[in-house]
Amino acid sequence: MRHSVARFVLALTLCSVVARGQSTSPALPPLAVIRAGTLIDGVSDAPRKNQLIFVRGEHIEKVTDASAPIPVGMKVIDLSNATVLPGLTDAHTHIFLWGEDPAKGGYDVNILKAGIALRAARATFAARRALEQGFTTIRDLETEGAGYGDIEIKQAIEEGTIPGPRIFGATRAISTTGGYDLEGYAPELDMPKGAQLVDGPVEARKAARQQLEHGADWIKVYMTHRSWVDKQGNLVSQPTLTVEELKAIVDETHGWQKKVACHAYNGIGLQRALDGGCDSIEHGLEITDAQIAQMQRQGTWYCPTLTPYYGDWADADTPKGKRDRARAAVHEISFKKALQAHLKIVFGTDIGGIPWTEPIAQEFDHMVKLGMSPMDAIQSATSRSAEMLDMKGEIGTIAPGAFAEVIAVSGDPLKNIGELEHVRFVMHNGSVFKNELAK
Ligand SMILES: [Zn+2]
Repeated sequence: MRHSVARFVLALTLCSVVARGQSTSPALPPLAVIRAGTLIDGVSDAPRKNQLIFVRGEHIEKVTDASAPIPVGMKVIDLSNATVLPGLTDAHTHIFLWGEDPAKGGYDVNILKAGIALRAARATFAARRALEQGFTTIRDLETEGAGYGDIEIKQAIEEGTIPGPRIFGATRAISTTGGYDLEGYAPELDMPKGAQLVDGPVEARKAARQQLEHGADWIKVYMTHRSWVDKQGNLVSQPTLTVEELKAIVDETHGWQKKVACHAYNGIGLQRALDGGCDSIEHGLEITDAQIAQMQRQGTWYCPTLTPYYGDWADADTPKGKRDRARAAVHEISFKKALQAHLKIVFGTDIGGIPWTEPIAQEFDHMVKLGMSPMDAIQSATSRSAEMLDMKGEIGTIAPGAFAEVIAVSGDPLKNIGELEHVRFVMHNGSVFKNELAK
């Protein structure tokens, strides 16, 4: 029975192939050409002047000098007075977070007061915000109690229902008992949690399996949780999963050919993240020299997220205020060390933790102020993050065969990195989403 059905399906397929072959050649997707005054292609170390980018359908077909002939009647997008770059990637976002403003109830109201439809509406706004600022790809590192909502927002974007970037979603994230909010409520209350909490390698592996089954592109693990300053003035962070628990998650996730992102501030938790085989360290506020060497050996990605640690400091003489200052101070040192050691640094902001109304590109400014060259900073958000996401050559570059994800700014971001806060043109998968440079 099954065989005859298979044969019937095969016959139908062959018929349609023959039918298509007989018809006149199918219409190729329309071709457009972008005139780029200056092109930063995401891979090369130097910009090129006066280039033409030929776009067919969703992809870049070729890139040539401006002297190449443009066929008559072809749609020309004139960005000859602009700097053109590949679409950017923010490798650490939270579309389901809404700023965590303490005056508005902080983190907890997200879960306690906002229903899932309101949270989805806000995530829709966040997705649009990313795209209009030229971030055509995001790695969204957990939904903070909104379950598998990231995968559904991604589906809505892919089917064209709402505008938004390409999303790599991590779904629910994993931590341990005592390792995630909501916290501080009466112990007899069974509070909802912003992550999936597990204890023991068996539960850890099961959580990874559940999340992968429901579409997680990455697995996000919290390896540290609370942080404070001890009597000696050192930043301390509470470790969460054991090496055995993390190894079960990493082993399971790698089996699915996916990767594990580890939130880790410093100390024991960061060490366990590295010993357990994490693929990317998130935040990594305080990394020792030995840990930097281990990251080099293991090829671990480093996603520093500087921006959130420079705003909203509590008063200097309070425990929270001391912690806030200590976090920024050690983060700067670690970032500079990582730069010197040529760790694989990718651009990430933790936006959502800061309001989505703020510019995502402000992270570039922090990176450059701490000694990263503007071109290196741009590559951390283009070709380097593409490599981390196993999309090398497909995104984060302006080259033949890549997705046509193209942005433009009026000025020169190599002279003033702040230009990237004012993206004036966005093409996503070959379609123009925004063009404020049209003549
Ligand atoms: Zn985060």
